[in-house]
Amino acid sequence: MSFAESGYQGRFRRIGGMVADMLLPPLCLGCGEAVVSHGGVCASCWRGLTFIEPPVCPVLGTPLPPGSPDGTLSAAAIAAPPPFARLRAPCRYDRTARRLVTAFKYGDRLESASLLTRLMVRAGHECIGASDICVPVPLHWSRLLARRYNQAAEMSRAICAATGLDYVPHALRRIRATKHQVGLKQLERALNVTGAFSVPEHVRHQILGKRVLLVDDVYTTGATVTAAARALRRFGAGEVNVLVFARVLDEV
Ligand SMILES: [Zn+2]
Repeated sequence: MSFAESGYQGRFRRIGGMVADMLLPPLCLGCGEAVVSHGGVCASCWRGLTFIEPPVCPVLGTPLPPGSPDGTLSAAAIAAPPPFARLRAPCRYDRTARRLVTAFKYGDRLESASLLTRLMVRAGHECIGASDICVPVPLHWSRLLARRYNQAAEMSRAICAATGLDYVPHALRRIRATKHQVGLKQLERALNVTGAFSVPEHVRHQILGKRVLLVDDVYTTGATVTAAARALRRFGAGEVNVLVFARVLDEV
């Protein structure tokens, strides 16, 4: 279903929203305090973000102990190799990151895409360098109608504009509505999204043999991204790399 995110009306609404935002005084994307320019965060929210710094696991992108040699895999990546080649996120999913994502997802703060994706492009250079096309994790059309835009699609569009990757917005389709993942346990989340994604026949040639950058806002248990990556691989993608804004990390 593309009407709400790429149709004339959707584009008009987006541009209208941006113009309205520009006429208002600039506010912090995290807390709503006044700041000097649009599309930024205040010093306090910036300090509140936890950036994931190297060394990281080359597959899962999780922090490794300082001084770990290059190429050291995390125990989790060895125990359960994921269906994607590598995953990167600039930030840990904690209180400030959650506020930024929530403002972007539900608050029509589309200017957040610029800040979040700048950080994603910086942290995701290996993923981006190893990809040919960029595909967002889709919303089911019923949720897209309620929310009006897909934040992963907005992020993907900005990432493609910054990097030159080809944007393939409708490579993945949610073939059934799933329950909200929030509040579900890890196994329930995996079951909830198993088989939820497909690649429609008319776009399969666009992913065949291609290295895909799969984009989402948040990685929690990984159930959604794992199911989406499996679908891409099943329908012929050569490799899948995952880039998200924030990811849950166990205490390290
Ligand atoms: Zn703030």
